[in-house]
Amino acid sequence: MSNLTQTKLPLIVGNWKMNHSPKEAHHFLEELFPRLRFHSPSCQIGIAPQTLAIPGMQISLSALKDPKVESPPLDLYAQNSHWSDDGAFTGETSPKLLKEMGVFGVILGHSERRHLFYETNEMVKERLLGALQNNLRIILCVGETLTEREGGKMEGILKAQLETALREAPKPLLGDLLTIAYEPVWAIGTGRTASLDQVTEAHTFIQSTLEALLGKPTASNCRILYGGSVKPENAKEIMALDCVQGLLVGGASLKAESFAQILGAAS
Ligand code: PEP
Repeated sequence: MSNLTQTKLPLIVGNWKMNHSPKEAHHFLEELFPRLRFHSPSCQIGIAPQTLAIPGMQISLSALKDPKVESPPLDLYAQNSHWSDDGAFTGETSPKLLKEMGVFGVILGHSERRHLFYETNEMVKERLLGALQNNLRIILCVGETLTEREGGKMEGILKAQLETALREAPKPLLGDLLTIAYEPVWAIGTGRTASLDQVTEAHTFIQSTLEALLGKPTASNCRILYGGSVKPENAKEIMALDCVQGLLVGGASLKAESFAQILGAAS
């Protein structure tokens, strides 16, 4: 792990996508907490459940917390949020509402949002501004498709996604609130993980792009996570890379056993 983020623990976040009801989430937490004592992770932990499951999870988290055992903080993230606080936007989720609910942060620009729901770089930028205005932590996902990678366009795609998303953001806020997740689209949910060289190449490029956009002190304060078919078997070697400050985990975060093992990669 890098010395860039000396003041911050690594961050490992489970993206549950459209899975786990509040009841299933409660059961997951019941199974996770005892395992955390065994794996003793030294990282910040996040889970991004479906938005409607968040209030139930907040109740479960306080009910299951054992005051006698010091467990690492577990923060709840939303999987997306709108740019406006209120208005005529049927089916969207307001960042102001998330803040009021006590949600810690939000994932923005996930490739499923970009590709299945046609979110553009401009829309991601607007969503980011709305989240920042409400003081929500942001995990901004960037990543190229296989065709883009094979066409030699990886750097251009990452640069455009970062440049557009961060163009209008008040820079001083970003050091505290912004995390980037490098998620190559071809590695998400496919079982095909990026090689360590590919992760290093992309993360190094993202780091230097952030430095150019935000200045070195702010950029150095932003974690860069890797996401894409992370599993217990590969988490440790990815986390051992200097340029990786955490993980965004989809499928393998749905079961307490595998998520706890992945969290243990940061012990
Ligand atoms: C994700 O959805 O952000 C993700 C990385 O999924 P998976 O771990 O299943 O590839």
